[in-house]
Amino acid sequence: MKIFVCADMEGIAAVSTSQQVSSGSPQFEWARRQFTAEVASAVKGLTEAGSQEIWVADSHGDCYGNLILEELPPEVKLVTGQHCLRPLGQMEGMDSSFDAAILIGFHAQAGTRDAVQDHTFHLLSLKVNGRGMGELGLCAALAGAFEVPVIFVSGDEAAVREAKTMIPGVQTVAVKKGIGNAVALSLHPQAACSRIYEKVKKAVEGGKGKKRVRPVRFPGKVEMEIQFYSTTDGDLAELVPGTRRLDARTVSYRAKDIREAYRAFRAATLLAAYSHYR
Ligand SMILES: [Zn+2]
Repeated sequence: MKIFVCADMEGIAAVSTSQQVSSGSPQFEWARRQFTAEVASAVKGLTEAGSQEIWVADSHGDCYGNLILEELPPEVKLVTGQHCLRPLGQMEGMDSSFDAAILIGFHAQAGTRDAVQDHTFHLLSLKVNGRGMGELGLCAALAGAFEVPVIFVSGDEAAVREAKTMIPGVQTVAVKKGIGNAVALSLHPQAACSRIYEKVKKAVEGGKGKKRVRPVRFPGKVEMEIQFYSTTDGDLAELVPGTRRLDARTVSYRAKDIREAYRAFRAATLLAAYSHYR
């Protein structure tokens, strides 16, 4: 079995504030150790369940320098490199050769109440075929474009709820409950690691035959709607060929499939993110 591990940071145990997930802050150093420990626990579960090849993508922030690589098991392969240069963003490396994907440390979409560090990149909202989704939904849809199911998600309770709605049958671990955007009631860090190890193992061992989780598919033409925080971002996004401007801050793209829609999404959001005009 070949498994893809996509790891974000806002949804790990005992992390509640933005400082904890911002590299360079004093609190970040502890958080990245826990981040690494949760990913290592997932890898241990995958290995014990018979996975022979495991790829790990550091998919938080700039997408490098968050995981402590030497503390991960040496048999993993690492997807590394700046987020803006990865064609598939958080899911860079995904293709149809994988049997399954798992998401560690995820958070709920922007605008979710009592969700730790809820956000959707730097957007107000994202919709695919009229359905609101956040980063975990988009990761599942990108894996689904290659017929790869997401079989496990960890994060806060709100992220887990979102995952269960988006991916019927997915195994989950909620490592904390948001009491607001930057406050949480968390499992002890070691308890979170044990739960992740056990449930990831179970997700692989139990997910065979009829119990196999289905890939998240958007067959046929796809309409992707992006709502930015600012009108300037809407102006920039409109430079992407094929853009429909719905209002000052909202654009949409019609594409032949989810992968083509995602390319337009990347172009529009990168223009906004890297504009020198603010
Ligand atoms: Zn993140």
